[in-house]
Amino acid sequence: LSNSHFIIHILGANSAKPPIGLNQTSQLLTIGEGSYLLDCGEGTQFRLDELRLKQNRIKAIFISHLHGDHYLGLMGLLSSMSMNHRTADLHIFAPKGLIEILTVQMHFTEFFPEFELNFKEVNSVSLEKIYEDKQIIVESFPLSHRLPCWGFLIREKIGERRIIAENIPENFPYPFLAKIKNSEIVVWNEQTYHFEDISLPPLPPRKYAFCTDTLFLPHIAQWIAGADLLYHDATFETQHEIRANETYHATSAQAAQLAEMSGVKKLLIGHFSSRYANYNKLLVEAKAIFENTELAIQGNFYPIFNET
Ligand SMILES: [Zn+2]
Repeated sequence: LSNSHFIIHILGANSAKPPIGLNQTSQLLTIGEGSYLLDCGEGTQFRLDELRLKQNRIKAIFISHLHGDHYLGLMGLLSSMSMNHRTADLHIFAPKGLIEILTVQMHFTEFFPEFELNFKEVNSVSLEKIYEDKQIIVESFPLSHRLPCWGFLIREKIGERRIIAENIPENFPYPFLAKIKNSEIVVWNEQTYHFEDISLPPLPPRKYAFCTDTLFLPHIAQWIAGADLLYHDATFETQHEIRANETYHATSAQAAQLAEMSGVKKLLIGHFSSRYANYNKLLVEAKAIFENTELAIQGNFYPIFNET
């Protein structure tokens, strides 16, 4: 059965002041032929190149908030896209202010990309659709951080019914196959073919929730419920929970609590504080609450498979 992939590549998972060799937040989500960038810390374009991920396949960029470690790689990436002769439109979703920041930079550097940039301000007050294409729907929802900040829920669209090859008669016309995939009943050679007899339902659509930077917010469980994967701010260990509250971040145990409450299948934690030499304790504390947790490791990729 053919099925397009749905993969999250971690380009960076550290907070501000990362150790040498590690990057600030950025992820590339690849679905089929297209890809989508979530946050764009400094050096994002170089991490894409290292992993041989094509900049020009990026259809849309989603920026959670305007702390530098989440967007300062953007200008460099846009410049490179232009030098690489990108022609396709690019959609950028970000909180208020990013358009002004980039406009000033473009004005004084006399850099004007040859492709179309479509900016949209993210300002949703609950779960609201902000983007849709052939493959996915993206919704944003407010988080709680020192700056206005939003999380993103990326949902695959429901696909076609899947043909059962051995149940299809010889020479069955292709246009009729298309109708079967579209849940229609077909009459051919005086025989009726019911779509349920010769095809299987579409694969269940996959769902990814990206939540950083934020305090632990129990009420967002309703918006991310049942996601296949949740990425969540886990800047601090439990011993630094007070610091997490002061800086509007979460502990890994809180990330795990949210995963548990929202019934997601898997949790990925990141935005690691520079105070920790390694992230074992963050992982152990999360796993004690939600077993299916992994650290977001820069350079690693995390595929989401359809469950049939
Ligand atoms: Zn921040």
